[in-house]
Amino acid sequence: AAAMAALLTTTTAACSKTRSTDNAPADSGPALVGIAMPTRSLERWNNDGAHLEDLLKKAGYKTSLQYADNKVDQQITQLQNMINDKAKILVIASIDGTALAPVLQTAADKKIKVIAYDRLINSTPNVDYYATFDNYKVGQLQGQFIVSKLGLDQGKGPFNLEPFAGSSDDNNAKFFFAGAWDVLKQYVDSGKLVIPSGKKLPNDDAWKTVSINGWKSEGAQAEMDNRLNSFYTGGKKVDVVLSPNDSLALGIAQSLDSHGYKPGADWPILTGQDGDLANTKNILAGKQSMTVWKDTRTLGDQVAKMVDAITKGTAVETNDTKTYNNGVKVVPSYLLPPVVVTKDDVKSKLVDSGFLKASDLGL
Ligand code: BGC
Repeated sequence: AAAMAALLTTTTAACSKTRSTDNAPADSGPALVGIAMPTRSLERWNNDGAHLEDLLKKAGYKTSLQYADNKVDQQITQLQNMINDKAKILVIASIDGTALAPVLQTAADKKIKVIAYDRLINSTPNVDYYATFDNYKVGQLQGQFIVSKLGLDQGKGPFNLEPFAGSSDDNNAKFFFAGAWDVLKQYVDSGKLVIPSGKKLPNDDAWKTVSINGWKSEGAQAEMDNRLNSFYTGGKKVDVVLSPNDSLALGIAQSLDSHGYKPGADWPILTGQDGDLANTKNILAGKQSMTVWKDTRTLGDQVAKMVDAITKGTAVETNDTKTYNNGVKVVPSYLLPPVVVTKDDVKSKLVDSGFLKASDLGL
């Protein structure tokens, strides 16, 4: 009986071996993972893409990394090509979170799994997981920074505030703004924060009236120029600018510069997000007060783990199954913690972790 069992085992092993080599060519060899990133124009997405590609290659996967120049149609074509190339998993940082339903239906028909990267993909059942930083928390950290910096919680004020929000097609923009506004609104209501440009943000959707499409620095600069030219006449000064991220903060800082604001003197509090090099330089130069740092390497690490678990059929780790409703379903998510960085901890947080180089910052 023992001999028979041994024989059976050998035969079964041999059979399963034969079966796997019998598979269609596309199923043999390492699995292909398609990585769709929105644009090369922002530093962070270049780092995100390069890091994830590197991790997946080291883990033995084939990858196709594509950037779409912030053009929705281009991203859809890239995804279609990945599907045609028989990708097993798509990792997507979407441009317009509502525009991918048709192409993701094609993916689902071919049993391709989809991970939304950093930005939620809306209005489709065909997104399996979401990995991101806690976006609401990002906004909260910006709001809390403003409150404590100005001493609003000590009863100080009134101060002049100019609010900005991110691109209206990016699901994250809503979360960033909601997080910040839930902290700041009570001070606007009590008159301790005054908005000279008259931007009214009465309801949940009103953030769209201060949103800068495509997250463009130039767009933010032009908008800040307009507000300063129209509403800050006769010596009136802006005390604080709520900027959701670094690309907007860069444009806003340029506008402040050209309107004669001076660091260390009348330069307003200016928030940001991402820890981009140019903005970190601005932080050191007193032209930006903080950035909410999201160590995108940890996001890549998490997504690489998800890819591996999906491929191996093991449990995919998530830590939030209630926040991110995409209009069709709540997408199981893994949220990472964002971190505030100011002038005092650029070195200990951004440099010592290897995120930025001391030499690039002149440190
Ligand atoms: C990301 C931010 C980034 C912004 C602009 C958002 O979806 O979460 O980190 O600054 O897009 O690219």
